[in-house]
This record gives sequence, C-alpha cells and structure tokens, in this order.
Amino acid sequence: MAISTRQKFEQVPLRSIRPTGWLRSYLEKQSRELTGHMEVAGYPFNTKGWACAKVAHHGGEPWWPYEQTAYWVDGMIRCGYLLGDKRLIGKARKSIDYVLKHADSDGYLGPKHLKESKHWNRWPHAVFFRALMAYYSATNERRVLKALTKHYLSKSSEHCDGRDIGNIEIMLWVYSQTQNKCLLSEAVRAYEKYNQQCANDDTTMANMLSGKRATEHGVTYNEIAKLGAIVYMYTGKRKYLGATENAYRKIDRYHMLIDGVCSSSEHLRGKDPLDSHETCDIADYTWSAGYLLLATGKAEYADKIERACFNAAPGAVTEDFKGLQYFSCPNQIIADKSSNHNLYERGNAAMSYRPNPYTQCCPGEVNRIMPNFAARMWLKDGKDTIVASLYGPSQITAKLGGQKVTIIEQTDYPFAERIDFKIQTRDCANFTLSLRIPGWCRRAKILVNGKQRGGKIKTGSFVKIRRTFKHNDAVSLILPMDLKLSHWPSGGVGLERGPLVYALGIKEDRQVDKADRKSNRKFPAWNMYPASRWNYALEVDGRNLNKAVEVVRRDVDANSWSIKSAPIQLRVPARRVHNWRISHRRQIFRELAPGKLEKHSGDFAFTPALPEPSTLANRLSKKTERITLVPYGCTNLRVTIFPKC
Ligand SMILES: [Zn+2]
Repeated sequence: MAISTRQKFEQVPLRSIRPTGWLRSYLEKQSRELTGHMEVAGYPFNTKGWACAKVAHHGGEPWWPYEQTAYWVDGMIRCGYLLGDKRLIGKARKSIDYVLKHADSDGYLGPKHLKESKHWNRWPHAVFFRALMAYYSATNERRVLKALTKHYLSKSSEHCDGRDIGNIEIMLWVYSQTQNKCLLSEAVRAYEKYNQQCANDDTTMANMLSGKRATEHGVTYNEIAKLGAIVYMYTGKRKYLGATENAYRKIDRYHMLIDGVCSSSEHLRGKDPLDSHETCDIADYTWSAGYLLLATGKAEYADKIERACFNAAPGAVTEDFKGLQYFSCPNQIIADKSSNHNLYERGNAAMSYRPNPYTQCCPGEVNRIMPNFAARMWLKDGKDTIVASLYGPSQITAKLGGQKVTIIEQTDYPFAERIDFKIQTRDCANFTLSLRIPGWCRRAKILVNGKQRGGKIKTGSFVKIRRTFKHNDAVSLILPMDLKLSHWPSGGVGLERGPLVYALGIKEDRQVDKADRKSNRKFPAWNMYPASRWNYALEVDGRNLNKAVEVVRRDVDANSWSIKSAPIQLRVPARRVHNWRISHRRQIFRELAPGKLEKHSGDFAFTPALPEPSTLANRLSKKTERITLVPYGCTNLRVTIFPKC
C-alpha cells in the first residue's frame, strides 16, 4: 500500500521507459564514450571510488572524490537500465554492491572516514544514494530500502549542516517506499533545524520567500532550494512548496540564461551574454525542476527541463560525448586552455572541451543529465492516467485500465513539430493519456485516429484524453513552433523557435592540447579557435521574423546534435560589425573565492563583450548577408546573443 502524498505526478519504474530514435543514439554514445570510460578524466574516476574502503587522498575536502564518483555512478546506472546495457550496469553495480555489503554495525553506509559528522561529510551520500534510488526503481531489491532505513535511523549525523541537508531527499524517498514514519519525522526535524541553524543561506525558507536576490553557489542553490517541494509532497504543507516555487521564480528573474540554465560561476550571476554556468548546474537545475513538476503538475516546469536539456546540455559537450566544458556560455568564440573569461578562475581551461576541463564535479555530473531527462519523460497521475511530460522518441509500458499497455512515441521532437503516439494493447483499455501543451505553443492541435479533437487546448497545461483505447489507436500532437526574438542585457537579442534556441555555429580550428594529462588520443583535450566569421549583428525585429527568417529542415540522423547534421537551420539577415574582435590581454585578475582576487600575467584571449549599442550604427557593414543559425546544442564555438542592427 502506498502512502498518501500531495505530489501531483509520480515517477514510473526506470525500465518501463525505452528511449528510441535520436535519444537512444545519444544515450548509446554516452555509454560508448565518457559515461562508459570516465577513468580517462583521471582522479578520482580512475580509483575504485565507492567500491573500496578508502580512496587515496589528493588534497581538498575528504568528501570530494566521493561526490564526484557518486555523480558518475548515478548517471551510469540510469543510462545502463534505460538502454538495457549490461556492461554499464555491471560497472556501476560494483560501487552499489560494495556499499550495500559493507554497512557498519549501526547501519551506516559508505566510507568510514566520512562517518564523523564534519562539515559536508554527508553530502556525497545524498549524491550516491540517488544511484540506489535508480537501482531500486529498476530491480525492486528490498535490501536497498532496508539498508537506507538503517543508515538514516542510526542517527550518526544531524544532516543539517549546509549541503548535508540534501539527504532528506533520500530519507523522504525511502519513506515513500516503506511508510516508516520515523524517516518522515527525522527529515522534517532536520529541515526545520537547517532553517534555523543556517539562517544566512539563500536557501532557507525565509530567504527563498523573500524578494532578496540570491548569491549562493549555483549547485548548492539548486540542490537545497528544491527540498521545500519534496517536504511538501510528504507533509502536504503548502508553505514548503511556496518557498521552493519562489526560489525558482527568482532564478528566472535574476539569473536565467538563454540556454535554459541559471548563470553561476560559481555563484549565481546575472544574464549578461558573457555570463556562464557550470555543467553541474545543468544536471542540478533539471533534476530540481523535475521535483517541482512532480509536486505541482505544472507544465511550466517540464518546459524548463526541456529547454535546459535541449540547449544547455548538448551545448556543453562535444558532439561525440568525448569532451565537456566546466563553464559554458551563450557566447563563446574561443575555447582553449586559457580562455575562461569568467572572473572566477579567469584564464584557465574551464571553458575548453576535454574529458576533465577543471574540477571533477562536472565530468561526474555530465553523465546524469540526459538519463534523468529520459527517466522523467513519462509520469503517472493517479492509477489510470499516464502523462507524456517531456517529449522525445521513446516508448512506455505500464498497467493502465487493467491492461498492460505500451505507448510508442514516434517523433523527431524537438527538431519536429509532430509527435505520434501509437497504443499497443491486447484488449481494450480504459485510461487517460495526458499530453503537455508547452507554454511557448499557441496553436497546438490533437488528432485522435486522424480526426481533430474538439475542445479548447490551453497553452501551458496538460490536456487529458480519456477513452477506451483499442490496439493500434493513434493520437497525434502537433506543436507549431513560432520564431521568437528574445531580449538580453547589453542590447543583445537571441532567436528561438519552440523549445530550441539558435546560435551561429562557428567553424572550429581544433588543436589537441598535448600538455593535458587528463586526456588521451581517443579522448583528446581540445583547444578550439574560430575559423569562420562570427562578428554579425542581426537585421531583424520581433514583427518581421516570419518574412525575414527562412527555416530549412533536414533529416534527423543519429548525429543530430552536431553542426554538420543540424536538422533545422535558420537563414537570417545580418550585417558584419567592424572592430568587434577577440579580446587579448597580458594581465588579468582571477577570482579564487568571492572577493579574493589574484593578479596573473600571460597571453590571454577571451570572447569579447557585445559592442556598445551607441557605437553600433557606425560599425556596421553596408551589405546585408544571410547567416545560418543552428540549434544551440549543435555548437561548440558560437554566438547566441547578437547585437541588433
Ligand atoms: Zn561542476
């Protein structure tokens, strides 16, 4: 018997979803490349991580190597079960089995030297146990629930110091599976204590509810802000949910970048075309927005997940999934060993594409993003309602209306506007198919067995189709994608169409950085330099977009997220901007921690700011050219925020 929760949607078992089409190709590429071979990124991925008593210490906090390898195991196990990939599952299971088999006598799980409850020592547990949640979702092995219950009820930690509070995500999940009320009261106690004890954090309930702009570390903000929504799901108290929702409204107001993720380098920043985010933030923002989707059933949170996963995520990795960035930015003209233009650690390799561009958190987290997306594409809304929450090629098998039903979702979305659902059932099944109508779509259409369905379709909502479905019944959803010009600081504009953001993909002069030891011939560290013109201003305004911009469609193949095979191209009128060049510097200031600057000398080349709008008129070439924009996720070097003629 399940406990009663206030959550609107519920997750489905991991193995009931089967990614297909481009999404399957993407996950298979993950498995073949970095997700399956993260050791290439060096320490701590080349250690046994959680599958041994203690990893050799390489400086930094003792919990570091465990956080980073836990991210990887979590992404790997999910990716493995979604694909049915035995090699990947086996590799991730080494850590899972070791931890479950080596519990302390009081039930404590994990490395013994982290048992002592010092600052953040329990944070990596919250990360690692998400892999156990995935493992349980796939296997239903009760030993997982037993071990986690014992671990949390051993009370060897208060779980309320800083990121340690993240453990209540796991406690409440175990509660949802076991109905052990001690876990609920322990989680609520820890959360209340965190709110008192860490009163200055941006992620306490009082501060999330205030209008105050946050300055917290991006990862910390996303990991902790979401907890209010989770506590709401199991207590029904709306004050908790209200705080989390407001925390995410503040992200939209102050920090949201065009690629769908909040700027944070490493603390939350603004919306300037040069503001960036960590790859970790893509994983954390989307995972957290997923809880808001589960808690509220609001379509807007699914829109946010898609935007981040279809833009920021592929935009931060190379098309072959062999290299990633630590910081990625809407505008990045150059990505080499010293091109990080953010104040934080300015002048290092954090913006280049390689297996391990800076700190090891991002190489761990990059593995989680698309598996987590796939795992939440389909949700349940009560017993007989299946929800298509995030769109993409896939299929789901679930018990609906007393029957085993498979729904095949055939589509090239987000590259296509049409999504076809085909119902497979032995006998007729009476159930509800709930379809999301994204907030950006004004003219959605639904066809049932080829006939247009009547009734109003509300933008930014879920439409429920309740009927007795027969074998081979077909439902089609058509989501016309309109062009949209969005406005950004420094007079910048960006071009969007449906869930995709478009960017000028710059031809790359790629050179291998042989000095990078966390790479090899198969997984090179790249220095990328622009080899085509990029300094353009768009000659469009919001009203003439359909006339001015030509949309070119091409076939979707297994390599869709690459410049070469970008399935949609926009041909846009633009004019060159004179004297808008890469910014060369001999001396820079590097921020090591908030307020702590260090002077450095060297030969630095950075992506420049947008030209000052008041100077633009005199700097534009006379001739109008047509430039080709491609989906942001297809690019490595790019301009996304342009000056406007
Ligand atoms: Zn990171």
